[in-house]
Amino acid sequence: MLTYIKTITADNKGPSTYKGTNTYILGEKELIVIDPGPNSKKHLYNVIDYIDGRKVKCIIATHHHGDHIGIMDELAASQNAPIYVGKMQRSKMQDALKISQERLVLFDGPIVSSEFEIDSIFTPGHASDHYCYRIPGIALFSGDHIMGWSTTMIRLPDGNMGKYIESLIKIKDICQEKLLPGHGNTIIDGRKRCIALLEHRNKRTGEILKLLESNDMEASQITALIYSKLSPNLRNYALFTVESSLAELQKEGIIKKVTSRKIIKYSINSS
Ligand SMILES: [Zn+2]
Repeated sequence: MLTYIKTITADNKGPSTYKGTNTYILGEKELIVIDPGPNSKKHLYNVIDYIDGRKVKCIIATHHHGDHIGIMDELAASQNAPIYVGKMQRSKMQDALKISQERLVLFDGPIVSSEFEIDSIFTPGHASDHYCYRIPGIALFSGDHIMGWSTTMIRLPDGNMGKYIESLIKIKDICQEKLLPGHGNTIIDGRKRCIALLEHRNKRTGEILKLLESNDMEASQITALIYSKLSPNLRNYALFTVESSLAELQKEGIIKKVTSRKIIKYSINSS
């Protein structure tokens, strides 16, 4: 039975990370660390202090982005702990981490400690190797797939809007737990949050199509109109997500790209 979930928020506050990355340390005597966090000595020492010599069964990550795995190598080495990776993570993690191959262990099925079991759920979209982790009836660790403070960013080519939506539906269909996200606070009703995010995505797609029905537009023009209230330092992140939405609409044959004088615009596909 899992009795302890400790959250340690790293000191990497910023426009895309909110108050910082959340590192979760689960268990009492045999610990599992989810998302060790960014490359910060201060954070590394906070995590090591909390572990306080207890056995670390394994370290896992929701995805390969630096703010989640920056200290993974060092933490694993300091605790003599293995890093468990999903089948879809192996190559990304191998590229991102500098550790020896022996420390990487492929998980296939539940991750089992002497105190609890974690199910992994493959949820590509924000990143092609994103997994959510679930302890049924207790919590679902949603990484950057579902965040506690904002919608997530989908950035091409590793991000994929179509897969993100499929992954949201996947979590909506199974989630009965609270969500513990990679950034931001706990989301008490995980399912409700998934439904709200799916509606939000639909609304944004509708807005894009409405704009394109009146005029052919560049991705940056669409972003400026749809996200007019967003602060300028977040506008770039919004542009990435708009580009991913446009790529998906193009794939579905709803819109097409038109290039003239090196300017790429999007147009409703009337053919
Ligand atoms: Zn993140």
